[in-house]
Amino acid sequence: MDLFGGIESGGTKFVCAIGTATGEIKEEIRYPTTTPDESISRAIAFFQKAATQGRTLKAIGVSSFGPLDPHPTSPKFGYVTTTPKPGWMNTDFVGRLHTTFPDLPVGFDTDVNGAALGEYRWGVAQGLDTFIYLTIGTGIGGGAIVNGKPVHGLMHPEMGHVRVPHDLAADPFPGMCPYHGDCLEGLACGPAIEARWQQRGETLAPDHPAWALEAHYLALGIVNFIVTLSPQRIIMGGGVMDQHHIFPLIHQEVGSLLNAYIHAPQILEHIEDYVVPPGLGNQAGVLGAIALAQTALTIG
Ligand code: ZN
Repeated sequence: MDLFGGIESGGTKFVCAIGTATGEIKEEIRYPTTTPDESISRAIAFFQKAATQGRTLKAIGVSSFGPLDPHPTSPKFGYVTTTPKPGWMNTDFVGRLHTTFPDLPVGFDTDVNGAALGEYRWGVAQGLDTFIYLTIGTGIGGGAIVNGKPVHGLMHPEMGHVRVPHDLAADPFPGMCPYHGDCLEGLACGPAIEARWQQRGETLAPDHPAWALEAHYLALGIVNFIVTLSPQRIIMGGGVMDQHHIFPLIHQEVGSLLNAYIHAPQILEHIEDYVVPPGLGNQAGVLGAIALAQTALTIG
């Protein structure tokens, strides 16, 4: 049986796992993200220990917070590049893995492209070829699969930083993106909810006005993505989306903003199956990393 290693490198936690070609997790550890040295060394130690127990890997996949360099031909491939996360700027993530495991192919992509790939293989995007995966949490990110492949292009998509209309009279909160102020992430990430209402999101009642406003901003972003990429489905994960009561608000707002312009029954009649939670739950990220490992093995 072929085994693959996956590392989900998140802003607050690392998840490392060993999984099969069919996405079955055999072993997993989770720990808080600290320095690059410590965090990556713990992942390496986990895989080395598994190898001594007979669990030899075919490839490793890393899905990481970014920005990062996902282009295999680039000199900076495998680096977390200009991240504002303290200590992580210019971290050669893949290089460290190659030093210990010189013969293993390593796949490397954004956390959201990874999660999208996992959903494509084993989750709610099976059978689709063009869709997006959004995470709404500490930040907002979006991964896109187009014609069956993660989109990279110039770098990789940064959908959280689209500009959305901001009515300062209705919502005087200035936004908190360090680069743009009131971009989508600046207005609608988890910390923005807490800063605006002076209360953590998960403690706000489902009928609190915070949620209608949150759904409004997220729907504005989603409508931009629908008209740009023509996705067949939109998957929404991350800590904020654990508040499942926000989904119907988003469905209603997306429909209202599109105003029947996109004539697709998926949106007009079945929007609850169009904007959906991840099918892989809290394993979407690490299964995405395992999917990246499999892709790395296939393309060499
Ligand atoms: Zn921004």
